[in-house]
Amino acid sequence: MFDHPAYDAHEGVHLFHDAKSGLRAIIAIHSTARGPAAGGTRMWDFANGEAMLKDVLRLSQGMSYKNAMADLPLGGGKAVIWGNASTDKSPDLFRAFGRAVESLQGRYYTAEDVGIDVADMEIVRQETAYVAGLDHGEAASGDPSPITAKGVFLGIVETAKRALGSSDLTGRTVAVQGVGSVGGYTCDHLAKAGASLIITDIDQAALKAVADRTGARIVGPDEIYDVEADIFAPCALGAIVNEQTLERFRVKAIAGGANNQLIVPEMGELLRRKGILYAPDYVINGGGIINVAAEISGNYSREWVDAKLGRLVQTLGDVLDEALSSGKPTNVVADTIARERIAAAR
Ligand code: NAD
Repeated sequence: MFDHPAYDAHEGVHLFHDAKSGLRAIIAIHSTARGPAAGGTRMWDFANGEAMLKDVLRLSQGMSYKNAMADLPLGGGKAVIWGNASTDKSPDLFRAFGRAVESLQGRYYTAEDVGIDVADMEIVRQETAYVAGLDHGEAASGDPSPITAKGVFLGIVETAKRALGSSDLTGRTVAVQGVGSVGGYTCDHLAKAGASLIITDIDQAALKAVADRTGARIVGPDEIYDVEADIFAPCALGAIVNEQTLERFRVKAIAGGANNQLIVPEMGELLRRKGILYAPDYVINGGGIINVAAEISGNYSREWVDAKLGRLVQTLGDVLDEALSSGKPTNVVADTIARERIAAAR
């Protein structure tokens, strides 16, 4: 473990097995320097245990950075459950997972991530109070995607200010990859601000719904990398900035809600050299975790969420300004600030 390439002085990596329900899970706590570790649970049919470990180590480190940039009193953690989210779920499995979370006695708070929905977390809640993203209860905050999308939209405006010379999106073209929860709401904000949209998705119903209400032009999933636009907003998959796509982008900025957009951190420097301004993903998409943090506090307040979101957008602006003035890639500037904030709390 200690010489694993993705190990970054994580405070704890906890393995859980429950023979009765078949649960195999890992909870990684990267840092509790700023507060209890918080981050969602992902259910995925990993190729092997090594892939599962690598994922949870990276994701938990990413949550430390995301929470630090959003200036939340939270550290970084993440959980992964090994299994197929369509066929392997059971109440017993989520109760066993709830007991696993409870055994960490509040050092880790969980919520939904890929493969996990609110109903699953309601079962986890039967065994532990260290869970957020619920529909019921005093401080329940529900689906975080509208807040994530609001932050993504404000972040796109902030990015446009620097990459296009104006925050006015009227007549600007934004190419949006993925019009699910975050992408769909982001499209609504963009259309309202006067932007022309080019959208893609593999879900035809979602595409039609968003095109009908925003007037967006639809292109195929692979065509989205070639369209001429002012801004590319990835809101579906990770690793979409890679050696193949880098050559194809005809945009001035990349700013969207998807996690882990760069296949490797070095892509940040290659984007900079191409003159594409990149809004670091874990900064621009921090709205959702702000909403979750409000729920964890036990006293949800929409005013507090909006104020935190406003400051996060300013932080994004600061990151972009520092990168532009220093000639460093934006992701490197963001990582440095996040690490400084975590170190300062130790
Ligand atoms: P979602 O499942 O609601 O939407 C994702 C959409 O992407 C779906 O409509 C899906 O059909 C589409 N898609 C999948 N493969 C595609 C492909 N090859 N080409 C085009 N479209 C494709 O998920 P979401 O909650 O909207 O999350 C989107 C992204 O934002 C994810 O990377 C997620 O990790 C990230 N994110 C979400 C939140 C949140 O609050 N939901 C917060 C932070 C980050």
